[in-house]
Amino acid sequence: MLNREAVLEIIEHYGRNTPLSRDYIGELCRLFQQYYGFRYVLPVDSGTAALHTALAAAGIGSGDTVLLPVNVCASVPMAVLSVRALPVLVDTDASLNMDAEALESMLDAHPRTRAVIVVHQHGIPANMERLTRIVRAKKTDVCVIEDCAQAHSTTIRGKPVGRYGDMAVFSFNKGKILSAGSGGLLATANEEWYERAFRFAQLGARQTPYHETFGYNYQMSELQACIIAGQLRNIAELSGLRRRNAGLYREQLDSDAVRPVLPLVEGESSWHRFVVHLSVTPEAYRQLADELRRQGLPFQEAHPCPLYRAKFLQDYYRANRLSQLADESGSAFPNFAEVGRNLMFLYTHAQMTEDCIRRICALLNKSIRAHEVAGRDFRCRETN
Ligand SMILES: *Cc1c(COP(=O)(O)O)cnc(C)c1O
Repeated sequence: MLNREAVLEIIEHYGRNTPLSRDYIGELCRLFQQYYGFRYVLPVDSGTAALHTALAAAGIGSGDTVLLPVNVCASVPMAVLSVRALPVLVDTDASLNMDAEALESMLDAHPRTRAVIVVHQHGIPANMERLTRIVRAKKTDVCVIEDCAQAHSTTIRGKPVGRYGDMAVFSFNKGKILSAGSGGLLATANEEWYERAFRFAQLGARQTPYHETFGYNYQMSELQACIIAGQLRNIAELSGLRRRNAGLYREQLDSDAVRPVLPLVEGESSWHRFVVHLSVTPEAYRQLADELRRQGLPFQEAHPCPLYRAKFLQDYYRANRLSQLADESGSAFPNFAEVGRNLMFLYTHAQMTEDCIRRICALLNKSIRAHEVAGRDFRCRETN
């Protein structure tokens, strides 16, 4: 699983300039093609580089608009700004993924849309079939990019995500399901885009030293490829553990008070994290988090920092006189305002023991019930 021998060989190769016995990049490509069924794959050095390369390869640039979910990491809009296109935010559905109706109205409102980036947030499958149908019904020249950075084992009706859109990107950064500390990958079935992506990520050359176009140096290293390949060979076990841990949370949490965020489509999450919505006041949330920390139980507070509050994006909108997009109130994203409140991320990785999960669930259940008894004010009023 860990490819120890191979990793040592690569370290020797770097340190002593000895030749490598294997083509580690090529091996990773073949594994990705086999496991996911991708036609063309291009390993790069980060997920952000994969997004930048995907947009550039699809010919997205100045004057174009790219739609993306409101609640994703800065890497996504930054990649859009890197090709000088305009990032526009779209509201989420109850699974924290891009909402189909919101997408439809944003496509109408932004006729210069040339790409849509759908993120499988927290590994939960987005409604790819519906989203792509909406895009195709309105436009034929829009590239649908799936961001699978947290979704290495996510499927929809048995088919891996990444195969529903026109291009897919993955990340192997710290904390992702497959990780080499950093790394990324782009996949597509479109030969022309693959050829362009290859040049864009390798200083404009199909073969050095023949640099035909402008490009960046985004190449993945042999060491990254070797580490990721080792994990990919073992992905059934890695994702099986996450599924088991997610199952334990689902079994043990009192689902009235601790509502899990689950897929809305017939599919399987990668369970990158187990996301729960706590029906409590912010004050009670803080107390709960303090108690979890006091007991040494691992979890992550999820303070939503949606992109409409991101300073770099607000500055960009204002500088470009896009006042209708520069609204920090979030009133344009009513679903996210509701679903994004009081979230907590529970870990699912291999270090989470059954005992640890039981203790977390017991504490969450107990605190919420105790507060319910203590005072009615404790629980937030539900709007639906
Ligand atoms: C991690 C991540 C990225 C960026 O990948 P890096 O390898 O960190 O550059 C992009 N999108 C999503 C959804 C991510 O989780």
